[in-house]
Amino acid sequence: MELEVVTIGNELLLGFTLDSNAADLSMALTEAGVRVARHTTVGDDSAAIDAAVRQGLKRSGFVITSGGLGPTRDDITKRAVAQIFDAPLELDRGYLKKLERRFEALGIGPMPLSNRSQAEFPRGATVLKNSWGTAPGLWLKGALGEVIMLPGVPHELRGIVQSEVVPRLKSRAGAQSQRVTQSRVVRTTGVSESALADTLEGAGDRIAPVTLAFLPSLEGVDLRLTAWQMDRHEAPKALATAVDAIRPLLGGCYYGQGDTDLAAVIIELLGRDSRRLAVAESCTGGMMGQRITAVPGSSAVFIGGIVAYSNDVKTSALRVPEGLLEEHGAVSEQVARAMAAGVADRLGAEASIAVTGVAGPAGGSPEKPVGTVWLAARVGGKDRAFGRVFPGSRGDVRMRAAQAGLNLLRRLLTGPNDSGSGG
Ligand code: AMP
Ligand code: MG
Repeated sequence: MELEVVTIGNELLLGFTLDSNAADLSMALTEAGVRVARHTTVGDDSAAIDAAVRQGLKRSGFVITSGGLGPTRDDITKRAVAQIFDAPLELDRGYLKKLERRFEALGIGPMPLSNRSQAEFPRGATVLKNSWGTAPGLWLKGALGEVIMLPGVPHELRGIVQSEVVPRLKSRAGAQSQRVTQSRVVRTTGVSESALADTLEGAGDRIAPVTLAFLPSLEGVDLRLTAWQMDRHEAPKALATAVDAIRPLLGGCYYGQGDTDLAAVIIELLGRDSRRLAVAESCTGGMMGQRITAVPGSSAVFIGGIVAYSNDVKTSALRVPEGLLEEHGAVSEQVARAMAAGVADRLGAEASIAVTGVAGPAGGSPEKPVGTVWLAARVGGKDRAFGRVFPGSRGDVRMRAAQAGLNLLRRLLTGPNDSGSGG
């Protein structure tokens, strides 16, 4: 089974709203064994909606729309699609009563007149219950094919898809839905996309028919392995075999799978031998602490951090010797190591991470250009430092620095003889 998605809204074309509905629909439908052949986005415009839906129907006979079902914009999607199917809009008195009772129950006065149009449905449409809002989904079938209209509010769309759309599509697909498209994500960091591509040269052929995609971000490079339209029972096995085939090639840059965060990995590693963690942050201003405390259960390991932004606080709170700051500057290997030692000592932690850098856009120099970051990690009495010039904006540099700090500690914990870079 194959269909097309048409997302509707001026805010999508203007770029104010990211089209998360198209992504959510694709994930839910793919999981249900339906192939999504195309995403189209149009504005709140009858002619544009009409054209997009007709073209989608011509190609695949099945279209799902998102948006334009609210009471404020004159139900533009409903009208446009009803016209394609020559189905007049009819008032559903039962649904109108339900809507009125809903407003009474909310205690916010009588239902506004504009909501009345939400009880009008194209003749012959199946009404898909919306337990989260006032606009139900609508499923129209006719000579041209089928259209499912869903409201644009993301959590309402997701709810209707899971409770009303997916079960119907699955039961219809029958044996076909035994075929699924499934993915697994393998996470790496501290390695460039091109270096990783060299490492995995030839691996693509070995894991076929599973495919391999490189997804670089500020945190590292994710590898997405996908089994396409495979038997429901075979797909997970094929993916597991593919993961096993590439994992040994990745060495120390592999840190987890799925949506595992690097911070969760170090919390796990430290928790195994009850070691406590503290962080000292300059240019990241608390981002490492934020990443660590986002992990449920981090309190078993993380005791705290010091944001030491100025040199004064580096000396007073972290006891970084003034002489080091004068001789090497705040962004230096020596100061990063001293910060890591200082915070471990002040807070009484067995493990620590320190970050100091020039996030920019100002403050760079020929010796220390914008993006220069020094990191240090310390476990017991052992430490390791690492310096790099990270590319990108101030925000990019800070995110890369926080990730590199966490990774430096991970590599210190996992590879005692590993002298590779941590960033
Ligand atoms: P609508 O059903 O068109 O009135 O949309 C209601 C709200 O849902 C809009 O204000 C948007 O913020 C949001 N929305 C609409 N379409 C999308 C979409 N494709 N992705 C994410 N959010 C959306
Ligand atoms: Mg809209």
